[in-house]
Amino acid sequence: MPPRQHSVELFKFGGASLADVAAVKHAIDIIVAPRRTRLVTVVSALAGVTDSLLSLANVALVGDPRDVDTQMAAVQRLHRDVASAIVSGVRARKALLTDIESAFADLRTLLHGVSSLRELTPRTRDFIVARGEQLSARLLVAGLQSRGVTAEYVDAAELILTDGNFGGAFPDLAATDRAVRARLLPMLRRKIIPVVPGFVGASPDGAVVTLGRGGSDLTATVIGRALRAERITLWKDVPGLMTTDPRLVPTARIIPQLNVREAAELAYYGAKVLQPRALIPLARMRIPVFVRPFADPTAVGTEVSMRRTLTRYPVKALSVIRGQALVTVTGNGMLGVPGISARTFAALHAAEINVAMISQASSEHSICLCVPAVRATEARVALETAFSIELSRRELEGVDVQLGMAMLAVVGLGMAGTPGIAARMFRALSEHGVNIVAIAQGSSELNISVVISAGDAETAARAVHDEFQMDKIGGGGIRQTDRLDVIVLGFGLIGRELVRMLPRVKTRVRPNIVALIDRSGYVFAPQGIPARQLAVLADKKASGRPLAEFEGGQAATANEALAHIAKHALVHPVVTDLTANDTLPALRTALHAGMDVVLANKRPLSAPLHEVEALQALAQKHGRRILHETTVGAGLPVMDSYAKLVETGDKVLRIEGCTSGTLGFLLTGIGRGEPFSVTLRKAMSLGFTEPDPRDDLSGMDVARKALILARLLGFKGELSDVAVESLVPLAYRKLPLATFLARLDQQDAAWAERQAAAQKQERVLRYVLLATARRVQVGLRAVPLSHPLAGLRGTDNQIVFTTKRYSEHPLVITGPGAGPAVTAAGVLNDLLQLAPK
Ligand code: ADP
Ligand code: ASP
Ligand code: MG
Repeated sequence: MPPRQHSVELFKFGGASLADVAAVKHAIDIIVAPRRTRLVTVVSALAGVTDSLLSLANVALVGDPRDVDTQMAAVQRLHRDVASAIVSGVRARKALLTDIESAFADLRTLLHGVSSLRELTPRTRDFIVARGEQLSARLLVAGLQSRGVTAEYVDAAELILTDGNFGGAFPDLAATDRAVRARLLPMLRRKIIPVVPGFVGASPDGAVVTLGRGGSDLTATVIGRALRAERITLWKDVPGLMTTDPRLVPTARIIPQLNVREAAELAYYGAKVLQPRALIPLARMRIPVFVRPFADPTAVGTEVSMRRTLTRYPVKALSVIRGQALVTVTGNGMLGVPGISARTFAALHAAEINVAMISQASSEHSICLCVPAVRATEARVALETAFSIELSRRELEGVDVQLGMAMLAVVGLGMAGTPGIAARMFRALSEHGVNIVAIAQGSSELNISVVISAGDAETAARAVHDEFQMDKIGGGGIRQTDRLDVIVLGFGLIGRELVRMLPRVKTRVRPNIVALIDRSGYVFAPQGIPARQLAVLADKKASGRPLAEFEGGQAATANEALAHIAKHALVHPVVTDLTANDTLPALRTALHAGMDVVLANKRPLSAPLHEVEALQALAQKHGRRILHETTVGAGLPVMDSYAKLVETGDKVLRIEGCTSGTLGFLLTGIGRGEPFSVTLRKAMSLGFTEPDPRDDLSGMDVARKALILARLLGFKGELSDVAVESLVPLAYRKLPLATFLARLDQQDAAWAERQAAAQKQERVLRYVLLATARRVQVGLRAVPLSHPLAGLRGTDNQIVFTTKRYSEHPLVITGPGAGPAVTAAGVLNDLLQLAPK
C-alpha cells in the first residue's frame, strides 16, 4: 500500500502537446509548480515521433535504405534541438547529447538490419517505436534536473508487465500493481519524481512491447491504479474531453464532468482523445481522471469520475469513426437458425478483426457488421470460410462488403431513461439528407450507433450535435486566449494593407489570418496562412491575379467560401468585410457559424432597415459582435467616440461632418482657384476616387455614411430617405465614362461661379452631411470661414457631435479619413477590440 501520509498524483503529457522546445519547457513548468502531492510523470513521444518511427520501420522494410538515413536525421535533429535548449549545464548537456546519439546509432543498426533482411516482426517494430517515449522521457528528466528538480528516469519495462501482444499489449494488472509499487514507492518517499515513458511495457519473456496507439493514456491509468493515486491528469492539446472532436464540429463544448462509463464508451467508439482501453484499469477504483489543456494549466478541463452530473443532457457526446466497411451476411437460411451471430463473431474474433458494431434486422434476414475498411477483405474471407456449408447449400446468399463507411455513435447515461433518443437522432439525420445504412443500439443503452457513408460524416455529426443541443453543455467553446482567427473578405488595397500590417502586430493576442476571399474564390488554411505566403499572395493579387487561380485556391462565392470555412474549428473567428459589395448573405453565414464581424464595407449597414436589424438580431442571438469603425471616417475614432459618449450617459443629438476624402480634396482644390477638371484628374491619378469618379460626385458614398450615423441616433428611414445633392449635373449622369471624362472641362465654368459666390460671402464650399434621428441630408454647403469645417485640408475628414453635454461647443474629431493604410489600421484596431481579454 502507498504511504497514507502522502497522496500521489499522476501527470501524463500527451504527444500532441509536446511539439517543440517551448512545449517541453512548458511541461517542465507544469511539473515544478508547487503542490501538496507527490508526483509521477508519464510522457508520450514528442509530437509526430511515433508516426515517424513507424514510417521509418516501414521504409526500412520495403523502401530505399538511403531514405532511412535521411528520414532518421530529421527525428534525431528534433531531439538534439530540444536537448540543447532545455539543459543548461555544459556537462549535463554533453551527457544527454551523447545518450541521444547512441540511441540513434542503435536505431540505425536496427533499421539497417530490417532493411537487409527485409523482415520486420511485430516484436522488432515495437522495439523500434518504443524509442520515441524512451527518448522524450530522458529529455524531460534532464530538463527537470537542470532546473534543480530531483527527477529520475524509470524503465517502463520494469513496471508495465503485459500479455506480450506486440503492437497492442494489455497489462497484467495484478503483476503490474506489484511492480509499480515496489519500484516507485521508495522513490516517492525520497521525494524523487519518477519519469516513465508511456506506451511501453514488457512481454512475459522480457521483450519491449507497446500498448497500442495512444497507449500512454493506459500507462498513466495503470500506474495511477497501482499507486491508488488521488487523481490522474492527462495534459492534452484540447481544452478537455469535448462533446465531439472540435476539428469536426466547431461548436464542440468542453464537458465539465463525465461518468467513467460514458468516457469509456466514447473512447471505445473512436473519440481519439482517450485510448480505448485506458479506463479499464480504473474500474471500481474511484480515481478521477482529468483531461486538461496543456496550453492553459489554470483551466480545469474535464473530470472523468464515478459521479453523474449534467443529467439534463441524455446525450453528452458523439464520435465518428471513419475508414469503416459494412459487411453484410444475407440469406433466408438465417431464419430461426440459432447461433448465426455467435458464429459470425467467433469467426471474426479468430481472425483478430475488431467488430465495432453488429446489427441484425428483425426479419433475421441479414446481419450487418462494421469493421475497419482495411480488414474488410479478411473479414469476408473469414465469414465465407465459417459459413462455407450454408453458402454451398444456398441457405446463405453471400457475404457482401461496402467500403467508404463511417460510424457515428452517440453516448450518454441519460439515454436509458429518456424515450425517443433514437428517433430524434434519425430525424435529425434524415432532415439533413444523411442516409442511414445500418443501426445498432448497444445493449448497455449507453450508446446508439449508425453506419453512414463517410462523405456524410461531417454533416451528420453537426446535425446530431445540434439536435441534442450539445453546444449548450457547460464549459464553453474552445478556449484559447492567444489567438484570433481572421478571415479577410475582400483582398483589394485595404485587404492587402491589412495583410502587410498584421505580422508586425505586437499585442499578446496575435491575429492569425486563416483565409482570404475575393470575388473569384478563396484561399484557406485552418492553422493560419504563414506570413511569407501572405506576402506572396498579396503581390500576386496586386498584379491582377484572382485568388481562385492561386495554388490551393478554390473558386467560390463569398458565401460558399464562408460556409466551407465555418466547417472547421477556428479560434475566435472574425470576418473582416473589406469589400464594397452586397455581402449580407455571407455575413449571415458567418454569424450563424459563430464568427464576429468587422466591417469596413458600408453596404451591409446601409441596407434596408429590416435587413440591418435582422443582422444585428442574429449577432445578438449567437453572442457575436459587429464592429464597424471604418465605415465612417476610416481610422478616425468615430464609432468609438460615439460609444463612449453613450456609455457615459450622454445623448447625441446631431452629427455633422465631412466624410468624403475625395470630395474634400476636390473642394479644397477648387477653393484654391483650380479648375474643377484639373483637380478631379489629379484626384483620380492619386487613387483618391472610385474608378468612375461619378460614384464619389453623386454623394451616395457620403449618403451611406450619413445613414449609418443617423441609424445610431435612432433614424428609422432608408437610404432613399436621405436627401442627397448630387454634384453630377443631370446631363452627365448617364454618359459613358470615357465621354464623361472627355467633357470634364464643360463643368469648370459652373464650378468657378459657385466658388466665386462663396468667396464673396467669405465662405468655402464643403460637402457636408447632417444626421439626426429625424432627418438625414448630404450636400454642398458654403460654410463661413469661422466654421471648423472650413479649416479642413485635402482628404481630411471631420465629424462633429452635438450632444446634451457638448451643446455649446460640439465635440470635433478631425484627421485623415481616407486611404488604405489608415483604413486598414482602423480595421486592425477593431480586430484587437474583439480579442479575448
Ligand atoms: P495525446 O496528446 O494525449 O496523445 P491525443 O492526440 O491522443 O492526445 O488526443 C487529443 C485529440 O483528440 C485532440 O487533438 C482532438 O482532435 C481529438 N478528439 C477526438 N474526439 C475528441 C473529443 N470528444 N474531445 C476532445 N478531443 C477529441
Ligand atoms: N506515442 C504513442 C502514439 O503516438 C503513444 C501515445 O502518444 O500515447 O500513439
Ligand atoms: Mg494519444
